[in-house]
Amino acid sequence: MKPKSGDTFRSMSININLELTDHCNIKCTMCSQSMRDDAHGMPKKFMNWDTWKDSLHGLSDIEEDVHLCPHWLGEPTIHPEFDKFVEYAFAINQGNRLFREFKLHTNGVVFSAARSKLLLRLANSPGQLEDTFRFLHFSVDAHSPPVYKLIKGADRGEQVYKNIERFLKIRDELQLTWPKVTLAYVVQPGNDHEARDFLEHWQMRLRAPAVTYDWPSELRDTIYFRPLNCGDQDQADKLHADTCRAIGMDVPDTGRLRAAESF
Ligand code: SF4
Repeated sequence: MKPKSGDTFRSMSININLELTDHCNIKCTMCSQSMRDDAHGMPKKFMNWDTWKDSLHGLSDIEEDVHLCPHWLGEPTIHPEFDKFVEYAFAINQGNRLFREFKLHTNGVVFSAARSKLLLRLANSPGQLEDTFRFLHFSVDAHSPPVYKLIKGADRGEQVYKNIERFLKIRDELQLTWPKVTLAYVVQPGNDHEARDFLEHWQMRLRAPAVTYDWPSELRDTIYFRPLNCGDQDQADKLHADTCRAIGMDVPDTGRLRAAESF
């Protein structure tokens, strides 16, 4: 029988990011990584198979619960062997011996039906706690294609919407619970005016989503309006708060809306 989420093995946890690549396929205006030829003081790379395999097996030495994310900078799904790498990780995680939780962050540009089905199969495969693959986090940041192009530096808005909607449809058709989906929207000059359109579009398509202005904390689908990190943080925080208020969120009158550790 499939284990339940309450059957935890350890009490402490640690976040581990194994960055599959620091390359990205788009150029978001708010991302310093996208403006540079290097991200870690050296040319951008794709992780090789041996590094991935050895890193995963090394997780068994960690005493704490491992929360694994195959991303730090860059876009993980453009790794040429992304599917093979992720499938292997779940194949050797029987009994959650390597990682207790898994979370994928993506811009959703390269997200085929086959990839959606693979990730859903892995998320709901036996031999691991049912909530192991917790979140699929799509960074969207726009509603209309022109605004997507402006904010994300690529004319891929329609494709991203189609990809996410297809993923949600497959999840519904298969009646699967995991992973929960987060849709993120970094509020900034240029997209603040269509935050409501974004909210209304996705509220109807996600499963009774939470709507939040701070890092998602609930185990459910979520629409997350994020503040922009920038030089004029007071101004960015004000735009974030004003936008959240304008679309009907219950926003405290305290300036910065997120916990210091959120990003
Ligand atoms: S998708 Fe992510 S890594 Fe790529 S440019 Fe945008 S924020 Fe940066």
